[in-house]
Amino acid sequence: MKFEKIIGQNEIKEKLRQSYFSNRLSHSYLFYGIPGTGKLSLAIAFAQFLSCENKSETDSCGVCPSCKKYEKLIHPDLHFIFPVISASGKKAISDSYISQWREIVLADPYFSFREWMIKLGSENKQGGIFSDESAEILRKLNLKTFESDFKIMIIWLPEKMNISCANKLLKILEEPPQNTVFMLISDNREDILATIRSRTQPVKILGIDDESLRQALVEKHNISDQIATDIVKISNGSLLEAEEQISISEETKYNLAQFIKLMRLCYARKIDEAIKWAEEISKSGREMQKSFLHYCSVLTRENFVYNYNMSKLNYMTREEEDFATNFSKFVNEKNVGMLSEIFNLAHFHIERNGNAKIIFTDTAFNIMKIIRN
Ligand SMILES: [Zn+2]
Repeated sequence: MKFEKIIGQNEIKEKLRQSYFSNRLSHSYLFYGIPGTGKLSLAIAFAQFLSCENKSETDSCGVCPSCKKYEKLIHPDLHFIFPVISASGKKAISDSYISQWREIVLADPYFSFREWMIKLGSENKQGGIFSDESAEILRKLNLKTFESDFKIMIIWLPEKMNISCANKLLKILEEPPQNTVFMLISDNREDILATIRSRTQPVKILGIDDESLRQALVEKHNISDQIATDIVKISNGSLLEAEEQISISEETKYNLAQFIKLMRLCYARKIDEAIKWAEEISKSGREMQKSFLHYCSVLTRENFVYNYNMSKLNYMTREEEDFATNFSKFVNEKNVGMLSEIFNLAHFHIERNGNAKIIFTDTAFNIMKIIRN
């Protein structure tokens, strides 16, 4: 991950680069602040930067052999420690879950502890960094560095470490091994042992600046500038809080209600009511109509994924998921492509100022033809 991929945080990026160029690297950093500001991404980007064989003044190169491995999180001198669950048949250490970890980080490095627990299939179990992990930390530190000048150990959420593991980590931090850089990443600094805190260099990560966050929301979620601006105001600079807002925004609620209505009419083949529905929705603004059609396309795909039991890949609100439990079985490999095509085509015509009433009527009739297939 390059620095440029991280939303905002330019001051921190510069601080980190300077600590390298002026030979003031610390052997252990503690990145802390509220969730959703990019702490983990910053640590990974910094680690990649340190190991890069061809770095510029501002970023890693992204293409050298070291960067290539970093982009897949498989560099042999990069080690991750993170909370796991204790499940039967698996040792409760990070390495048991490293493939899920790589998946979630590479898919989107802005995720919460709760999302990580869901990824591990265990929303209710207590995740933690358990006693067995301390032996793993020691083992990893005793490995020689394979390919780069630094060995990096990123510890995500050290506040979840149990006391015996934390005490062993403390011992290591008191006599840090050479050429090893620890990067601790914490949502709740106060919950970390004070003795560990005092052995690390604190790096406070503030919220993402408004403009960078606004841009990111528009690009990532395809929402209007106005909605993005409104959401930024109440998100404390946290991408996660902003995304929470999006998922419950009025626009989403409206779109979901319309989608449900449309699908029920189409499934029941209620032609007269479908025409009335088209008349109603054609009275709303073009932007709203486009937003709705885009939403239909996305939700159709989500339902398809849901139908094939890949619910972990889903990004749905609770209301959307409620609907999907019944509806998703109607979206299958035979019609998912056609459904998407119907919505995309309608979007295309609305954008070119076609007659909305005709377009939505056609849309409904076309769905009727395939929804029971
Ligand atoms: Zn590089």
